[in-house]
Amino acid sequence: MKTLLEKIVRECSNEWKSGRVATYIPELGKGRADASGLSVYSLSSGPASAGDTGSPFTMQSVSKVASLALALETLGEEKVFSAVGMAALADPFNSIMRLESDAPHRPHNPLINSGAIAVLSLLPWTDGGEKFEAVRDMAARLMAKPGLEIDEAVYLSEKETGNRNRALAWFLKSVGNLEGDVEEILDVYFRQCSLLTDCTDLALLGATLAAGGRNPVTGEQVTSCGTARIVRTIMATCGMYDGSGEFAVSVGIPAKSGVGGGISAAVPGKMGIGAWGPALDKRGNSAAGLAMLKRLSEELGLRIY
Ligand code: GLN
Repeated sequence: MKTLLEKIVRECSNEWKSGRVATYIPELGKGRADASGLSVYSLSSGPASAGDTGSPFTMQSVSKVASLALALETLGEEKVFSAVGMAALADPFNSIMRLESDAPHRPHNPLINSGAIAVLSLLPWTDGGEKFEAVRDMAARLMAKPGLEIDEAVYLSEKETGNRNRALAWFLKSVGNLEGDVEEILDVYFRQCSLLTDCTDLALLGATLAAGGRNPVTGEQVTSCGTARIVRTIMATCGMYDGSGEFAVSVGIPAKSGVGGGISAAVPGKMGIGAWGPALDKRGNSAAGLAMLKRLSEELGLRIY
């Protein structure tokens, strides 16, 4: 496996050139555009990695997988999907357009920014600090990474400049679709996006979901099998935003991306994959990550469709 991963990283080493590092969160703009890494956690043969898989980066939207899993575990499917939809969207992840135009103004799915913010507002902890600790704990257990830290500089950078997310949250509040203190919920959102991971963590996150919610390293049943199935399904339909359809055809695996350049993918019953490259395509998905996942999926016949 390691030899195959090394070959794929090598063959995709120029793919980053088609993308750009995110700069709308100023601190993210400091990322090295040409870095890339690929990790697999196979449920039958364990971990394998190639490229730059130890460098830390922020989870960004990959963290929405953890908050969705937590919401499903604590509140149940019905309550979660009465507040957010399950619909794929052809708009960017931070778009406000359809949220305003489509009554009853519910976020279309839990993996776009408005949906993730709405999911956080639902969680049954009123204190923002406790809410964040619950999300962090879920992410830590999914990835077997007890000392999960945040990147303070990225957190502060997004908190200072995240006015689009503020607009989404305040719009939800104005139509009565957001419970609680808006700034406190946004603070939890900015913190969860700043959680620091690496490629191997994202492979294990995918592997836990691929194994029906059971972390293959710790042996802990982190979520129910049903929660893992729903999260994988929403990842498959909405995880790559407006690139989800194309990704389903070209790669064919449930996956979630983040603007830190990470992608976590879950091949049911088989493996988790972590891919990283900070240069992003126009939809905010890692350019190198997409190319490496496509190659890996082809080589190992991983498509689930
Ligand atoms: N923190 C980012 C934002 O809210 C997350 C977006 C993403 O990773 N796609 O804009």
